[in-house]
Amino acid sequence: MSMANRRDQKKEKQQRRPRAPFIAAMLLSSLVLTAVLAWQAQYAAHSHRSIAEGVLRDYAALAADEYVRRAANQIGYYGYDPLIKSLMGHVQTLDRLPTLPGFRAEADDRTRAALELVRDLFLVRFDSPASLLYTGNDPEVKSWLANDFPHRQAELQKASRGFLTVHPILGDQPHTFIYAPVNGDATTLAGFELATDALEGWFQSAFQRAPLLPPSLAKGNDTNAWIGLTVYDPGGQPVFRSIHAPSYDLEAERAFADAYGGILRGMRVVASINPEAASHLVIGGLPRSRLPVLLGLLAVASGLLAAAVLQIRRERALTQLRSDFVARVSHELRTPLTQIRMFAETLLLNRVRTSTEQQRALEIIDKESRRLTHLVENILQFSRGDRGTLTLAPRPRNLAPLVSEFVEDFRPLAHHDGTRFKTRLEDMVVPVDEDALRQILLNLLDNAIKYGPKNQLVSIATLRVNGTSQIRVEDQGPGIPESERERIWHRFHRLERDALSPTDGMGIGLTVVRDLVALHGGRSWVESGSEGGSCFVIELPMAAPEEREL
Ligand code: ADP
Repeated sequence: MSMANRRDQKKEKQQRRPRAPFIAAMLLSSLVLTAVLAWQAQYAAHSHRSIAEGVLRDYAALAADEYVRRAANQIGYYGYDPLIKSLMGHVQTLDRLPTLPGFRAEADDRTRAALELVRDLFLVRFDSPASLLYTGNDPEVKSWLANDFPHRQAELQKASRGFLTVHPILGDQPHTFIYAPVNGDATTLAGFELATDALEGWFQSAFQRAPLLPPSLAKGNDTNAWIGLTVYDPGGQPVFRSIHAPSYDLEAERAFADAYGGILRGMRVVASINPEAASHLVIGGLPRSRLPVLLGLLAVASGLLAAAVLQIRRERALTQLRSDFVARVSHELRTPLTQIRMFAETLLLNRVRTSTEQQRALEIIDKESRRLTHLVENILQFSRGDRGTLTLAPRPRNLAPLVSEFVEDFRPLAHHDGTRFKTRLEDMVVPVDEDALRQILLNLLDNAIKYGPKNQLVSIATLRVNGTSQIRVEDQGPGIPESERERIWHRFHRLERDALSPTDGMGIGLTVVRDLVALHGGRSWVESGSEGGSCFVIELPMAAPEEREL
């Protein structure tokens, strides 16, 4: 075997190898890749979101830290400091505990502004016997003070700001007591109980005084409007809540702890940032979840894949149909060719004995060559229709004589099986392409004979129906089941009973008929014949009244 031959064989083998699984695998891989990309995009968006959330949480912590420092300083510096100093002054000069009204009357402006923080005053002496003076009348507080103050003397000497804050819970209620030494050796202590309710106003003013986050972040906006902030007392009850309720997820908590000498120890602040402010605080803002979009895209990709697979399957089915078609065409052509050759040889070799035999041989050659022409004509028309290059030149013609002529032409093809033709032809002028009409009629008559019984009667009629002209070809064959009446016009479609039987056929005759009729602007269909056979109907538009037969 030559090299070229071997190469050709190899090439052919490669071409024949089924490519569909390969294409399907590529499509599937592209779907998997799309899914991976979607997952990556979702992952990137998710991590971008976590980073942005982390930044917002850091800002919330920053705001909480700043608030702790500011509120403690404000309450300490403008509240506790002047109160303690003023109280010490009174006790030192008067050597007794002032009454609350007396204390107020003597207070300077700064102390008066802080007086709302005082619930009651108290004074403790460690002389023997030790004594406790208390302006209030809460027995629980009184007994607590009496028990507590001996423990505070030593502690007070170490107090960084000159006073000590104690936060006991008495009868479920948090209380705050501020102690300070009246003299250097702390043998006398004075102090006040904090009016916890009054703190709310102080917390409020600490919040409003200035932005909690650096103004540079806000680009002209009020950062406090983005911050939700709540202060909780040691019992866990909210003491102050900013107007922007802290309902945001991104929050941070800070305890007051030792701020300003621990004056608010036990209290804590929870600050949170409104996620809507994210676009101002974080570059790129808080990204929204892309999951729905990505899932949508994935669904579209899957849909496209399914469509592609479907298309591949259709292509394969069509390829199969085409190769079947080629096989059928070859078979169809071989039969008349064999007949022609056989009878031509008989004539050439002078094997005919009588002139009748000679006449018969010539008739068969004539019949088979007509048949061959018809077959080739059909294939040509079909391929033109398939490529969209089928064109006609219709001219107004009287249908009756035309149809009669075609039937006569066809008669020799049918006479061997005893088929009779009956025509009922009404005169009517219709624009038709003569060759196309011949092709149409030959196909219908050919089918009537092919699928009908021997000695049947085939009726051909032309008639006017509702302003259109109809050509009807009715046979006495088996008819066409209702469910198949549309499908038989499709290319390569043959009824199951015929596809399995040895009846010749390529499955393109009716497709050619329909194409040609459509090019005339008409319609074609099949009905039940009056005797159970099929009745094929061709409907053509009539010529306009002024058009005359040419
Ligand atoms: P074919 O070459 O198979 O005849 P056609 O397109 O002409 O192809 O017809 C399609 C199918 O319709 C045929 O295979 C046959 O099953 C059915 N058919 C067509 N004409 C008739 C008829 N007159 N009677 C019964 N069946 C018919």
